[in-house]
Amino acid sequence: MKVVLQNLSKVFPNRSKKGLADVIAVNDFTFEIPDGKLVGLLGPSGCGKSTTLNLICGLQTPTGGKIFFGDDDVTNLPPENRGVGLVFQNYALYPHLSVQQNILFPLQNLKGADKLSKSEMLAKAREAAGLVQIDELMSRKPSELSGGQQQRVAIARALVKMPRILLLDEPLSNLDARLRLQTREELRRIQRETRITTVFVTHDQEEAMSISDIIVVMRSGVAEQIGEPQEVYDNPVNLFVAKFLGSPPINVFSGKVADGSLFIGEDAVLNISGVQNQEVFVGVRPEGFVLDKAGPLRCKLSRVEVMGRDVSIISTHGASVNPIVRSIINAESAENFSTAEVRFAVKPAKVFVFNKETEERVFFEVR
Ligand code: ADP
Ligand code: MG
Repeated sequence: MKVVLQNLSKVFPNRSKKGLADVIAVNDFTFEIPDGKLVGLLGPSGCGKSTTLNLICGLQTPTGGKIFFGDDDVTNLPPENRGVGLVFQNYALYPHLSVQQNILFPLQNLKGADKLSKSEMLAKAREAAGLVQIDELMSRKPSELSGGQQQRVAIARALVKMPRILLLDEPLSNLDARLRLQTREELRRIQRETRITTVFVTHDQEEAMSISDIIVVMRSGVAEQIGEPQEVYDNPVNLFVAKFLGSPPINVFSGKVADGSLFIGEDAVLNISGVQNQEVFVGVRPEGFVLDKAGPLRCKLSRVEVMGRDVSIISTHGASVNPIVRSIINAESAENFSTAEVRFAVKPAKVFVFNKETEERVFFEVR
């Protein structure tokens, strides 16, 4: 089921008397979620991710704009009639019900033509439990389950009605690191198997990048960039998106474009064309550095961290916006560092230039 958000807005009026401005949680958001895809809504806390999800499922009504499921305008449809499955960060299971009863719950309220017999309901509950691999736990109570198992029950409960759309709000945030990895792989598998159009909200860029077909990077209620994860990583439209994606994060420097050279501080790192002289921020991905004894970028070596396959070189540079510059070099090309200075060349495809005032991307060609 395709989902269309058309000029969607949600304003929370300021209720205090202090004269603070209203909160625009979602600001004129237009986006089409293609049928059968997994979309990751990504952004810092407070950027409007949960509000967007709540608008899609109908728990909140928009201040402006429309929502379509396929060709149906669902903007004014109550949540129970939208056919959505919901999973939240806190699993929100019924504590007094068994796992099986929790999963059955959404089926028991079906009316009219949708009403199911007891055996039909049980078959569906077993199928949903099978998808998340909790078949063995059906008679337990939520208190007798680990966090990861509880979240599986919540996912099974959301899936049991075979929703048209599955909405997940930070579903993995309460799980420990290992379970988070495992559960996200499983969510991906289940989504591929069921082909249910899914919106997955997270503040964790790695999580969003790893499972999404499409990511939406949000800031202050606005979608800053929408695209395939790799595409957005390789082609950020502005400094915010460049900084939000990538671990370790991108290195940001003050620089300038002057007469065909791109400068980081005083170091001319690339010969470029197609750009007017201006003050800029230069972003270099950690993997965008090449060790080069005659390289143009002169950094002061702080330390070297060996991490198996890769070596991280931690250094400083006067024009760096961050306290350190982190470059990741293949262990085989690393050497013994005896000098206080370490010099790099940069890989043009890993270098992004942004206007210093607008922080919008400035595109250049390499000469
Ligand atoms: P996220 O999920 O990205 O962390 P939210 O969608 O929860 O962000 O919130 C977006 C903004 O809207 C925040 O500034 C938040 O404080 C505000 N907000 C969310 N819900 C309400 C509400 N019910 N009343 C007033 N303001 C709200
Ligand atoms: Mg939220």
